[in-house]
Amino acid sequence: MCGIVGFVGRQQAAPVLLQGLSKLEYRGYDSAGIAVFTDKNNITVEKCKGRLKVLEEKVDGGKSIKGEMGIGHTRWATHGEPNYINSHPHVGGTNGSDNVAVVHNGIIENYIDLKKYLQTRGYNFVSDTDTEVVAQLVDYFYQSTNGNSMEAVKKTINKLEGSFALGIMFNNDPEHIYAVRKDSPLIVGLAKIGNFIASDIPAILPYTRNVYLLEDKEIVVLTKDNVAIYNIDGEPIKKEVYIVDWDVSSAEKGGYEHFMFKEIMEQPDAITETISPRIKNGQIVLDDVKLTKEDINNLDKIYIVACGSAYHVGVVGKYIIESQARIPVEVDLASEFRYRSPIITKNTLVVIISQSGETLDTLCALREAKRLGARILSIVNVVGSSIARESDDILYTWAGPEIAVATTKAYSTQLSVVYLLSQYLAQQKGEMTQKDTDELLQNLQLIPAKIQDMLKNCTDIQYLASKFYNAKDIFFIGRSLDYAIGLEGSLKLKEISYIHSEAYAAGELKHGPISLIEDGTLVIALATQPRLYDKLLSNIKEVKARGAVVLAIVQEGMDTASEVADYVITIPKCDPLLAASLAVVPLQLFGYYVAAARGCDVDKPRNLAKSVTVE
Ligand code: GLU
Repeated sequence: MCGIVGFVGRQQAAPVLLQGLSKLEYRGYDSAGIAVFTDKNNITVEKCKGRLKVLEEKVDGGKSIKGEMGIGHTRWATHGEPNYINSHPHVGGTNGSDNVAVVHNGIIENYIDLKKYLQTRGYNFVSDTDTEVVAQLVDYFYQSTNGNSMEAVKKTINKLEGSFALGIMFNNDPEHIYAVRKDSPLIVGLAKIGNFIASDIPAILPYTRNVYLLEDKEIVVLTKDNVAIYNIDGEPIKKEVYIVDWDVSSAEKGGYEHFMFKEIMEQPDAITETISPRIKNGQIVLDDVKLTKEDINNLDKIYIVACGSAYHVGVVGKYIIESQARIPVEVDLASEFRYRSPIITKNTLVVIISQSGETLDTLCALREAKRLGARILSIVNVVGSSIARESDDILYTWAGPEIAVATTKAYSTQLSVVYLLSQYLAQQKGEMTQKDTDELLQNLQLIPAKIQDMLKNCTDIQYLASKFYNAKDIFFIGRSLDYAIGLEGSLKLKEISYIHSEAYAAGELKHGPISLIEDGTLVIALATQPRLYDKLLSNIKEVKARGAVVLAIVQEGMDTASEVADYVITIPKCDPLLAASLAVVPLQLFGYYVAAARGCDVDKPRNLAKSVTVE
């Protein structure tokens, strides 16, 4: 999940690389490193364990390495612990001759075999990484082709199994950077000051909006004035320039202490951006969906496939699509789906959800579903990402760049797209009257303003966070949609605050987990669904009887909750089906304030990275 960047141009490369890496640190922050082709005519590598700021200090903001071409890396370790030796860039060459420097995002699955092979040919390895094998292999083929860089890159790619985005420089070539991707993201940026490669758009946004999106195994050769792209057979490829229409400030903190808080605050706008263009004259218009009425009526099943928070959106999706459109829905974790022989017919729709559109587990699940003959509809935030390109139908969330590792606005916009999709399917199937649709759409359009109201005053949540920030365990309970929201609330809390937490279907509690409740354990009870409200109150009483302290989240007007719970947070009144969009907000804020009170690195929680591009 590392971030890689490369620059060749008309100004000092090191500061540009460091600036680019600072925008990619969300992808990994175990270590950082750069390799610059210096004025002394060779590649100089500087790297270190830990955050990018350690490297910045080491190289004096880039001033200590002079040169106009380089590659950089910020690591999320998969092979080998996060230490200096395992940091990228890695170099290749026999007898200490560092002929090649490589940065890599991904996993080389056959690295052990390749390593053994190279060892028999005189290559020594110093790190535990899979990446070092790439550097050595490039050198091996470079030597065996009498110094033909392009051939060396091509031959290397043909030997690698797994996923990779690579930036490669050769020690005797001061002008060219080579790059290639397979199943890991990589874009090319075309700027006035020179040309770039990067794992993600924010890295190049300060310099250009003009990018090339790459397909698997396309080889890019960058010089300061030119970008040439070739297929694996070495034939040149022509590409359209894609113009990024993001606002640069959306990838900056803009005065907020943390990206996560800024992104929570951006939710009303992000949801409005996502739903407004799709509601015209009271009708849902999904321009990018080519499913016909007949296709929809023939659907025998929908699988929603995703990971992490996007999976939790899927759990909400199951409840609402089944209740509105009356189509059976299964929600699957992408990493499980692809290995469990799912039953798919030509009438099966697979809905893929991913913020980055590059989540490798999800991308592989998509490919497996496609291979089995399913039709793929994706809900994705990053335009032109792999998942977007490989889907039959695509619904973009217009959340803008999300930088904090813990998702908030991407989750909320995914949810609003699922609402639209569900109503669309229901309408096409004739399961909803126009009147029902009108009402729901009106209510959906009110969600951003309601969230805005909730965000105006966060003091209650802040107070509760200050009371419970030292908790050992926290439980979330709810039924139906409230259970789905509990899953997300629990993940949000644990991933950034490191407090152990679990979400349970409230009815399940008595079948085991209730034994975990002790005196003073905090239970967050979601009770936004009128139809299940009384049942939830009973569950609250059950945990209270065992010593729990209960915070209930209810809709306005559900006043009796305060008679059983210790604390109550009220969300604005809304259609029960839409309550997830509102109820998640106090849970995001609770996680945020608890993590901040514990002094955690909110935007970059330990062991995590945002865009999970390894299996
Ligand atoms: N496998 C490489 C390493 O461990 C890159 C990891 C990644 O991209 O997440 O260093």
